[in-house]
Amino acid sequence: MADATASARKEIARLHRAAEPEVLAPLLRDARLSPESRRRVENRASAMLADLRAAQASGWVNQFLQEYRLNTSEGVALLSLAEAFLRVPDPETADQLIADKLGNADWRAHAGKSHSTLVNSATWGLVIGRALVSETEQASALKRLIARAGEPFVRQGVGAAMRMMGEIFVMGRTIDEAIQRMRKRENRGFTASFDMLGEAARTFPDAGRYYAAYEDAIRAVGRVAEEGHSISVKLSALHPRYEVAQYERCVPHLIEQVEALAGLARDAGIAFTIDAEESERLEMSLDIIEAVAGLPQLKGWDGLGMAVQAYGKRCRPTLAWADALGEKTGRRIAVRLVKGAYWDTEIKRTQEQGLVDYPLFTRKAATDVSYLACARDMLAARHIYPAFATHNALTVATILEWAGKSRDFEFQRLHGMGEGLYENLVWEQGYRTRIYAPVGGHRDLLAYLVRRLLENGANSSFVHQLADERMTDADILADPVAKVAAVGGSRHPSIPLPEDLFMPERKNSRGIDLLERRELRRVAEVVEKPLPFREGFGEGPVGATTRSQGSSPTAPTPNPSPEGERGQDAVTRALAGFPAWSARTVEERAACLDRLADLLERERDQLMRICVQEAKKTIGDALAEVREAVDFCRYYAAQARAGLQPVELPGPTGERNLLRMEGRGVWVCIAPWNFPLAIFLGQVTAALVTGNTVVAKPAPQTPEIAAFAVGLAHGAGIPEAALVFAPGGPETGQTLMEDARIAGVAFTGSTATAKKIARTLLADDDRPIVPLIAETGGINAMIVDSTALPEQVVVDVVTSAFRSAGQRCSALRVLLLQEEIADRTLDMLKGAMDSLVVGDPADPATDVGPVIDRVAYDKLMGHRERMQDRWLHTIGAPEGGLYVPPTLIGVDRVEDVDREWFGPLLHVATWRAGSLAETVRRVNASGFGLTMGLHSRIARAAEAVEGAATVGNLYVNRSMIGAIVGSQPFGGEGLSGTGPKAGGPHYLPRFCAERVTSTDTTSAGGNATLLSLEDVGL
Ligand SMILES: Cc1cc2nc3c(=O)[nH]c(=O)nc-3n(C[C@H](O)[C@H](O)[C@H](O)COP(=O)(O)OP(=O)(O)OC[C@H]3O[C@@H](n4cnc5c(N)ncnc54)[C@H](O)[C@@H]3O)c2cc1C
Repeated sequence: MADATASARKEIARLHRAAEPEVLAPLLRDARLSPESRRRVENRASAMLADLRAAQASGWVNQFLQEYRLNTSEGVALLSLAEAFLRVPDPETADQLIADKLGNADWRAHAGKSHSTLVNSATWGLVIGRALVSETEQASALKRLIARAGEPFVRQGVGAAMRMMGEIFVMGRTIDEAIQRMRKRENRGFTASFDMLGEAARTFPDAGRYYAAYEDAIRAVGRVAEEGHSISVKLSALHPRYEVAQYERCVPHLIEQVEALAGLARDAGIAFTIDAEESERLEMSLDIIEAVAGLPQLKGWDGLGMAVQAYGKRCRPTLAWADALGEKTGRRIAVRLVKGAYWDTEIKRTQEQGLVDYPLFTRKAATDVSYLACARDMLAARHIYPAFATHNALTVATILEWAGKSRDFEFQRLHGMGEGLYENLVWEQGYRTRIYAPVGGHRDLLAYLVRRLLENGANSSFVHQLADERMTDADILADPVAKVAAVGGSRHPSIPLPEDLFMPERKNSRGIDLLERRELRRVAEVVEKPLPFREGFGEGPVGATTRSQGSSPTAPTPNPSPEGERGQDAVTRALAGFPAWSARTVEERAACLDRLADLLERERDQLMRICVQEAKKTIGDALAEVREAVDFCRYYAAQARAGLQPVELPGPTGERNLLRMEGRGVWVCIAPWNFPLAIFLGQVTAALVTGNTVVAKPAPQTPEIAAFAVGLAHGAGIPEAALVFAPGGPETGQTLMEDARIAGVAFTGSTATAKKIARTLLADDDRPIVPLIAETGGINAMIVDSTALPEQVVVDVVTSAFRSAGQRCSALRVLLLQEEIADRTLDMLKGAMDSLVVGDPADPATDVGPVIDRVAYDKLMGHRERMQDRWLHTIGAPEGGLYVPPTLIGVDRVEDVDREWFGPLLHVATWRAGSLAETVRRVNASGFGLTMGLHSRIARAAEAVEGAATVGNLYVNRSMIGAIVGSQPFGGEGLSGTGPKAGGPHYLPRFCAERVTSTDTTSAGGNATLLSLEDVGL
């Protein structure tokens, strides 16, 4: 039987990102009903619809959805308010949030409309709130009354409305309260599976608290075991790093914890189910379940259960696996079949990661088909106890049809939903049904609430359709099998494959599925194979090194990595190459860039290997580096094709005005070590595609990756005289800058060097004035107000400040927290830092690698030491490498950080409620203007910061790094650079000479165009 689980696992791996039609073909076959069955199902489902509609008068969630659709401004306002309001500690910000969310929506239109008193009461709270914050109703009697009463009335009203929403969605604030509520009349005949609400754990102490909550819950439910309730467990709550890259440390830990909880549950006589989470966690969860199921002390216990998502392409083999595991371990595994709660997030992430295909279906009907075929499998399986979790009447009716007389299964529904559907089944027909019952305080409710509102507010959702008066019963009950079959199981036309995201303009760069363990291991093996580096290569003086046989880091294809030229020789060579290269058509030059992109993708493993070993990038960063380089090539190729064609300009008749964009001559491109491939090639390809020839000087720390890239560029058809490689240190740079023959400079590096370059370019009176595009650093700040979600803030701060060991120009340097939430946020941040892994960048588990070299290390460590009495937190790092331990350093004021510390050192200061504008002004005053972050749920705060911040890139409610070519053009102002932005639509023109030819077409004797006009409109 061991073979059956193993072969199911193979099939799970095979289908992960298989094409949709291929996965759906067998599911369609098995989900099909005979015409008689279909008629019975329709009849039964129609009757259920009638029941459901009748029950809407008391169905809270339906009421809510009917009143507040997601496509109305009130629905969206309510969603945002519900998400944030209860966590805001200070009255000032709470009032701003209310004004922001309630101000523009028409609450009065909803008042008293709903059949539900709860919904109406909540609405009235909002109406009052709206009246009080509205500027147009300033003079209202109510407002004057409240002003006189001097009470924080609005806040109380809105708070009460939010708490009412809480009651709608939560079974109880504590497990005992929830158990009590299950005994009420409305829940008669139902059992519950209690879910202890909360976000995924971000820190070990959080995980410890969740574990204790599960233990308590199991004990409490065990005390009333005869009532038949159970517990649902989220593995992500039990470990802050439940991630594939951390497999070796999280999976064994989770096996231990689940083993202990399962033991408790078994002893208490209750069942527990492991929830299904994001797709990359599926295989890890199977490993954990398999390990626990195999424990001798749990032998024969039928209480172990799991949820499986029908929207996933791997659903069916996962069920086969569960059945085989049940047989192997002598038990029935309780499987809860759900459709899946993370659909939107999964689609977005797959697109961002540029993966080959989606792990889930892209049409709602395909998920329904999968659910039905899988339900059938489950009913036939011998070692599965089926639980069907759905609120969809058609799905329920089909399952009842297939179950026939069998009662050996149960239904499940969410608390507050599906009323009217299940009462009848339970009370009249005796079907077993369990309620998934969230337990927790109002604070913990928020994330859950938002998810449910989104899920059920979607147009395609059954609950939404039921509430939509325009939908007929026939629409709602249309056969999903027929729908999917009609389109051959094809992908949804509005959801392109990640590769086609930017089509028809260009192909998206391909990613690697680093969330897939086998793929991650393969990449890890590739990147850790040692590379022989050329000694002294790139340090200069240029050309002084000779390359010994076989010392290249690679077997470069198709051209060997060049050695490079001396500064002036390089310029001479590029100058000689200019006439031929600039004479090529834009199309020819763009085609070279496209070919280079393809070569980069072909050589991706090798490029990542050099990135990891030479630039000390982590695996994830190395992949991002190659993808960005590929995107630059294709983006600039596309921009050139579209924007560099000659344009005929309007003017008086009898003349022709033609604007041409042409190369200026030789550009010198000087790249930094922190993006030794992406920025290097970004500069080079932009200069080349606009018709210039290029002398490319990489940073002295990273010449090998640049040499390899230049070799590929030559192989892509870019002539050696058009792209001349000039590795070297500062002297080489200086020699190149002093050469009066150069026509432009693209530089990325420090502000000091940029200024020196500018001075050199202007030093000689006889030199032409040439453009300088400089990209320099910044003292980047993130401002966080008290409406922000701390869990999200912490993730984004860790990413922005510590990823790439803080060695990105965009990285966060100063975190500015609103006083009221500073302590709580810092506690969470410290906990999150404690779970970071500092170490060898080639190890997939590493979050923070070493810094680039000894000079950088000494500078950073020196500052860190000097600030020792201001440390708020630091973590351990391995001895003996260039590892700078991520450290939080407290400062009194933003002004105390007066220079850029290019490493994982994060400064923290606080600001007072009401001083947002002042805070932005002080950040601006540093003179740098690269990136800024803002975390706030107040749209007006975001607008105000957007209006006031003098930075190139503002990031709202997200991390501050990882700009995507073509989507987030990148670059700063002031001390941070000259612009234009790399990866943006205005970059290429700066490399061009604009030339206009005006020809008098009448000079041959007359205005032929004018005279040959035909009569029109007569
Ligand atoms: C008791 C219970 C336990 C649950 N436990 C879990 C769990 O552990 N893990 C989990 O992920 N979810 C869980 N859920 C949530 C569940 O996934 C959703 O409630 C469910 O998907 C809603 O399905 P439905 O049949 O009620 O509604 P329907 O309206 O019929 O289905 C909606 C679902 O269809 C899918 N869908 C929507 N649009 C598309 C599209 N374009 N392409 C493909 N699919 C689409 C989504 O999964 C969406 O949620 C649970 C639900 C219940 C009732």
